[in-house]
Amino acid sequence: MTAPLYERVALIGLGLIASSMGHAMKAAGLARSIAGHAKTEETRAAALEVGFCDAVFATAAEAVKGADLVVLAVPVGAMGAVAAEIAPHLKPGATVTDVGSVKQAVIEAVAPHMPPGVHFIPGHPLAGTEHSGPRSGFATLFENRWCLLTPGAADPAAVARLRALWQGMGANVEEMDPAHHDLVLAVTSHTPHLIAYTMVGVADHLRRVTESEIIKYSAAGFRDFTRIAASDPTMWRDVFLTNKEATLDILGRFTEELFMLQRAIRMGDGEMLHDYFTRTRAIRRGIIEAGQDTAAPDFGRTKAPDA
Ligand code: NAP
Repeated sequence: MTAPLYERVALIGLGLIASSMGHAMKAAGLARSIAGHAKTEETRAAALEVGFCDAVFATAAEAVKGADLVVLAVPVGAMGAVAAEIAPHLKPGATVTDVGSVKQAVIEAVAPHMPPGVHFIPGHPLAGTEHSGPRSGFATLFENRWCLLTPGAADPAAVARLRALWQGMGANVEEMDPAHHDLVLAVTSHTPHLIAYTMVGVADHLRRVTESEIIKYSAAGFRDFTRIAASDPTMWRDVFLTNKEATLDILGRFTEELFMLQRAIRMGDGEMLHDYFTRTRAIRRGIIEAGQDTAAPDFGRTKAPDA
């Protein structure tokens, strides 16, 4: 096995993404040791028991000591406070990255705390499931998925090393401007999640009329929505609060299209509906051809709901 890319990695936040990174790094020998911190004792104990951390610490400040890579894997709204706490304890020359689903807000919250000589390289793996917590991770989560880095003017050697880490975990890496990232994700992930939450909310209201029929006769379309809408409430609250402008922009466009389809249904315009669905079907084919709709081999989990 080749030498590890990082001697000591600190994972701050030990949920789905951090635990998957821990498993993947261990499987590929990418880190010599992995330290971890999460808010609760229960999560820290689970991380040790599952085995993706070698040591856990009660504070983020202790966990980052001596680390040459620090991964912020907490909800987006918690990134700034964590960055402020760890800043005085970071090793000179260390790389700090994050996995947050929104990039501009994380950069605004984290960058001001980073001491000179520490490389801050924001990132976002486009991989996830509707499960959360330290027991939900698995080593193959990132395989053949994208990881987007928004390095700005960060040191090229530090960026190359982080890129190699993600590639070592199976991901394809692309660099992007943070504002562009937030717009793209508003289209591909954030707004679809909001629509799923809304559809399940509508069904919940209807449930009072139809009693349990919605669960009993739940068909594929609604079932898919419920899976997406089961995603972690804290994480998604933070995504919408921090990617506000792009989400509202896409939601506005979505509403216009919806009105158009509503009108076509009212007017009995079958040709319009057929043309529309033919175009959307082609997009689905494109996603499959790009290999972005693969099921995880272990546990039969789907990877669909990422952020
Ligand atoms: P998760 O499974 O819900 O876990 C969150 C973790 O963060 C938990 O270990 C929690 O600790 C810890 N935490 C929360 N607030 C904290 C704080 N103030 N200080 C220290 N630890 C704290 O989360 P996740 O799904 O891995 O998401 C983590 C990040 O990845 C988020 O920023 C999210 O936007 C991003 N992301 C998620 C997905 C996805 O599909 N899930 C995909 C790509 C990126 P306790 O358990 O002790 O409370």
